[in-house]
Amino acid sequence: MVEDKPSHETSRGSKFLGCEMREHAIAAIPGDGIGPEVIAAGLEVLQVLAQKDGNFRLRVETFPWGSDYYKKHGVMMPGDGLERLRAFSAIYFGAVGAPDVPDHVTLWGLRLAICQGFDQYVNLRPTRILQGLSSPLRDCKPGDLDWMIVRENSEGEYAGLGGRAHRGSPEEVATETAIFTRRGVTRIMRFAFKLAQRRPRKLLTVVTKSNAQRHGMVFWDEIAAEVAKEFRDVTWDKMLVDAMTTRMVGKPSSIDTIVATNLHADILSDLAAALAGSLGIAPTANVDPERRFPSMFEPIHGAAFDITGKGIANPIGALWTAVLMLDHLGEKEAALRLMQAVERVTASGLHTPDLGGKATTREVTSAVCDAIQLANALMF
Ligand code: ATP
Repeated sequence: MVEDKPSHETSRGSKFLGCEMREHAIAAIPGDGIGPEVIAAGLEVLQVLAQKDGNFRLRVETFPWGSDYYKKHGVMMPGDGLERLRAFSAIYFGAVGAPDVPDHVTLWGLRLAICQGFDQYVNLRPTRILQGLSSPLRDCKPGDLDWMIVRENSEGEYAGLGGRAHRGSPEEVATETAIFTRRGVTRIMRFAFKLAQRRPRKLLTVVTKSNAQRHGMVFWDEIAAEVAKEFRDVTWDKMLVDAMTTRMVGKPSSIDTIVATNLHADILSDLAAALAGSLGIAPTANVDPERRFPSMFEPIHGAAFDITGKGIANPIGALWTAVLMLDHLGEKEAALRLMQAVERVTASGLHTPDLGGKATTREVTSAVCDAIQLANALMF
């Protein structure tokens, strides 16, 4: 789904009993809050899937980085963290954040350090209503909401540029500068058009705020029009981000693929997840499409301290995330089977409390493992 090129060079093939056995090296970073709970669920399901498939295996190494690590060492990950991750095929990430560590420290110290350090410039966020789930939108049926949000993930409002001066005085000033480069905007726009072109409806909405932000956002609109010339078969339109929120709620079926800046897409994708049923089900992929570096896969939800340790975190977001990771690693059949197993469980009505049910993380995880085991042997 993401790119057709072979997976990162650290995925290897070897002969086992005359069959080709593919091995993928996965760096797991469970992080904080419910991160460890949902990543443990995901790894358990992935191992069952690999065993059942028999043609690939996962070599997983877990890194204890996050807020606890910060409290002991003063950093969210060691100085050579990126070097150590570089050797892996993919990174499977939980969540970061702690009530007693500022959010900008946890975010910049780990998640953004990896995304920006590995130039994972595409943040892909599929959203649809899974079988057995319902949208809070009254008339919205599953087929009415099937979106792919493409978030620019390397610059924009999250470029980290700005500063503070005259701290504590009445003259105190803070600036936060968004950066848009021709290279950055063109590459995300091209990715989004290409993705829209591969989807059945070939429909793309470019989101900006070019009425009020008359430099960077007008630049986005201009580059969208330039790139559109390379994709004549894609129908595209432009929306202001505020109008886009009302369109997502009022006319969800008029939308297919969306491309937006780092900040706008971050906000729109939380709305999208809520409209599809819960923040707990939504996945995301931070992708380097050129595959120079490992890509990183994570559920979109955060650390969720209100439910940490209660055993009721919804693992579906982490499992759908694992589907994206398998797809990226070239294990497309296994990705499909995992998605089918997940939807068999959501369709069965076994739901965690965020979806209105009473099931625990353990019960949903076991049910997905069972659905994989019970799947028609001929499928494997
Ligand atoms: P961030 O700032 O990192 O996005 P946040 O604190 O704003 O994090 P979340 O941690 O994602 O937001 O949680 C928002 C709400 O959604 C919380 O009430 C939380 O319990 C719920 N939630 C998030 N993820 C899950 C999940 N996997 N299962 C059940 N509920 C969840």
